Amino acid sequence: MTNKPNIIVSACLLGHNCKYNGGNNYCSKLEKLKEQYNFIEICPEVEGGLPIPRVPSEIINGLVINKEGMDVTKNYNEGAKLALEKALKNNCRKAILKAKSPSCGCGKIYDGTFSKTLIDGDGITTRLFKEHNIEVLTEEEI
Ligand code: SF4
Repeated sequence: MTNKPNIIVSACLLGHNCKYNGGNNYCSKLEKLKEQYNFIEICPEVEGGLPIPRVPSEIINGLVINKEGMDVTKNYNEGAKLALEKALKNNCRKAILKAKSPSCGCGKIYDGTFSKTLIDGDGITTRLFKEHNIEVLTEEEI
C-alpha cells in the first residue's frame, strides 16, 4: 500500500513504443517523480483504436486528419474519453502529457499543415482533461 497520489502520464514518455512511428519519447526527468506519484499510463491514440505504427495526424479546423487525408477524429475522441475515465477512476487531478501531440499536447500543437509549424492550442485529450479540471503539464515544464 502507498499513500502517493496518482498522476496520469503519457505512456510514450515512460519509454513505451506507442508513438506513431513505433518509437517512444522516453523522458528521464520523470524518474524522479516516481518517488512522489503513482503513474497511471495512457496512450489515447492506441486506446482509441489506432495501430502502431500509424500515419501521423494533426488537428485542422477542429478535426484530426492524418497525413493521408483520412479523418481520425473519432479515434482521438474515443481515446480521450477512455483516458478521462481512467483519470477519474484513479482520482488523478494532474497529468503530464507529451508536448505538441494532437492528443497529448498542451498550449502548443502543430497547425495541420505537417510542416512542423506550431500554433496555440491543446491536443484532444488535454482539452477534455482541462474541461474536467485536471491540470495538464508537458514534460517540457517539469
Ligand atoms: Fe504519446 Fe500521447 Fe501520442 Fe500516445 S497519444 S504516443 S501517449 S503523445
